[in-house]
Amino acid sequence: SHRTLKFLITGGAGFIGSAVVRTLLTSTAHEVLNVDKLTYAGNPESLAPVEQSPRYRFARQDIGDQTAMSALLHDFQPDIVMHLAAESHVDRSIDGPREFIQTNIVGTYSLLEACREYWLSLPAERRATFRFHHVSTDEVYGDLEGDHDLFTETTAYAPSSPYSASKAASDHLVRAWQRTFGLPVVVTNCSNNYGPYHFPEKLIPHMILNALQGKPLPVYGDGGQVRDWLYVEDHARALIEVATRGAVGETYNIGGHNEKRNIEVVDTLCQLLDELAADERPAGLASYRELVTFVKDRPGHDRRYAIDASKIQRELGWTPQETFESGIRKTVEWYLLNRQWWQNVLSGNYQLGRLGHT
Ligand code: NAD
Repeated sequence: SHRTLKFLITGGAGFIGSAVVRTLLTSTAHEVLNVDKLTYAGNPESLAPVEQSPRYRFARQDIGDQTAMSALLHDFQPDIVMHLAAESHVDRSIDGPREFIQTNIVGTYSLLEACREYWLSLPAERRATFRFHHVSTDEVYGDLEGDHDLFTETTAYAPSSPYSASKAASDHLVRAWQRTFGLPVVVTNCSNNYGPYHFPEKLIPHMILNALQGKPLPVYGDGGQVRDWLYVEDHARALIEVATRGAVGETYNIGGHNEKRNIEVVDTLCQLLDELAADERPAGLASYRELVTFVKDRPGHDRRYAIDASKIQRELGWTPQETFESGIRKTVEWYLLNRQWWQNVLSGNYQLGRLGHT
């Protein structure tokens, strides 16, 4: 349908959320209210390309404040709530799990309650078309033992880290709100994303920016961990398809069919930087590869994730547009061309002026 819809996006100043907001405003006629607390991971500069749009609004808000979320819902009257707000970094969840429990579990619970109350207030025809779309990760499925099996939508949950356990808990809450209260929900579980505007603590941008600064490239353990990589704009398109056309109560796995060992990813980055940024390579190095150093593995580190994304392809016709090779090249080029964005993150300047930003 070509009806204009109102999307309330939580976490729209984050990596994936900002890609969804940019895609909605540049490729569709839909309206967006972005609700984000602006933690360290939220960056309003990732919304610069669309923030002037008359179809865009921003509210700085914690999803855990049910009264405030309820007021935003009644005021904006969304057709779709797409929930991406979360604490998302595995290493931080090991150093300090509290915020992960608070936002990912308790925050999702509060948001579900605010949405249920709003949904019940809608007239019958709008109540039927309302959707609560919960955005989650393939890490809820835990580790894959063999080399050949894949996670499907019916794989049992077996999370390993505080991060993935908190996401698993939130997935269960969302499904319970559908089965117990009838809230029309859809859930997606996606593999590792990469691409432009990715916060530098994550593997790919961390390696690119360390390399450009001539710093060591730390690889956990032997670098043999396998991840399935998806270009963030492919994920954003998949999310919009599921939110607008997915069947109520269904789960869709989203992935890129791009399984790579971490060391292969780092190697590819070094190769691209040797090609695209040879003049910035520290004197005396023949390749950025010489910066690679192996460091002690993280505890509970899952060896392999790989996702079967055939359901979303079959039922909604979604497939990724980027291969790993095309997407990783675009990503390196983006970091080389958008130095102000990441320099402001590294210096902390991206957090200036937040108090007035509501
Ligand atoms: P991110 O850390 O880049 O962004 C999270 C955003 O949520 C930030 O803008 C932050 O300010 C906001 N936020 C945090 N706590 C909040 C709160 N209490 N109230 C309101 N806003 C809050 O994360 P991301 O990588 O963009 O991931 C988005 C979602 O997608 C998460 O739910 C994550 O679990 C899921 N996911 C991520 C990946 C990945 O590879 N990055 C893969 C699959 C699923």
